[in-house]
Amino acid sequence: QKNDNGNYEVTLIPGDGIGPEISRSVERIFAAAKAPIEWETADVTPVLRDGKTVIPDEALHSILRTKIALKGPLATPIGKGHVSLNLTLRRTFNLYANVRPCKSVPGFATRYSNVDTVLIRENTEGEYSGIEHEVVGGVMQSIKLITRPASERVARFAFAHAIATGRNHVTAVHKANIMKLSDGLFLQACQEVAREFPRVQFDEVLLDRACLQIVQDPSQYANTVMVMPNLYGDILSDMCAGLIGGLGLTPSGNIGRDASIFESVHGTGPDIAGQDKANPTALLLSSCMMLRHMNLGPLADRIEGAALATIADGAAITGDLGGKASTTQFTDAIISRL
Ligand code: ATP
Ligand code: MG
Repeated sequence: QKNDNGNYEVTLIPGDGIGPEISRSVERIFAAAKAPIEWETADVTPVLRDGKTVIPDEALHSILRTKIALKGPLATPIGKGHVSLNLTLRRTFNLYANVRPCKSVPGFATRYSNVDTVLIRENTEGEYSGIEHEVVGGVMQSIKLITRPASERVARFAFAHAIATGRNHVTAVHKANIMKLSDGLFLQACQEVAREFPRVQFDEVLLDRACLQIVQDPSQYANTVMVMPNLYGDILSDMCAGLIGGLGLTPSGNIGRDASIFESVHGTGPDIAGQDKANPTALLLSSCMMLRHMNLGPLADRIEGAALATIADGAAITGDLGGKASTTQFTDAIISRL
């Protein structure tokens, strides 16, 4: 919804490590593109409440109000009593589907030139349910929780996404041959939801086979939307990122019931933080996904076009892509193309 100034309000969480640098870059590019966005910067540095670390209320209220956020990477505090902030955000806003597109940048040479995958990762349960315990000394158990409602919800989202993006094909990725009950239920939910979408093609593939096929010929997955349980999506999306030039390039969107949060797939890059070296493209492409989610497609196309052309040109790219430019120089080059 537009505010009185005719702008959309979006919560910006700069994050940790390289987060503030790449967020600044996105802010500058949006300002140069005259995007009708007003950022509400939210601090999510955890505060201690009743002996637990929690996200400050102001940040939560901001997202509840704007319903949309762009987020830099967050450091996960290590140690007892600390809950991952990412997990907290996921639970608080019911972010049930994580969308991860991965597309070769035209003109930027890597081993593969024909990657165009879209992967949807179930975001709330599976191997990441966080239920682990010691059975007896030397024996640990971790519970992979799969439920019908969460599986149906993410499957339905995958089909809707396939229609909205013109792919018209959904592939469920699973290991139901081994995990007959848990992955079996996930697969069954996908099969049932497929019947609600008779115009969308549906098929299934085993995770290991999908990995083999993607590295052999990624174009086989260029016209489908892959949907899968949590851990498989985590691993498969990093693999796809590697095919197109690394983590500096891959965006993601967390679609939720109460809000949607867009973020880069990569982490805080502690080894290069504060050195003006980080590649802001992943966060910038996440912001373009966000604009499309807000029905601002033409603006997203313009910003994305300027970024991809800058990468293809190669004169001002960051170190992770084989260049020598700083974050600032790369950002300046994108702005000069807008
Ligand atoms: P975290 O615990 O926050 O995930 P990490 O140590 O796993 O941190 P990542 O951020 O996941 O680090 O990054 C892995 C590697 O990729 C690091 O060497 C990092 O510098 C590099 N990298 C990640 N993101 C970017 C980026 N945007 N630009 C350049 N290099 C990046
Ligand atoms: Mg990491």
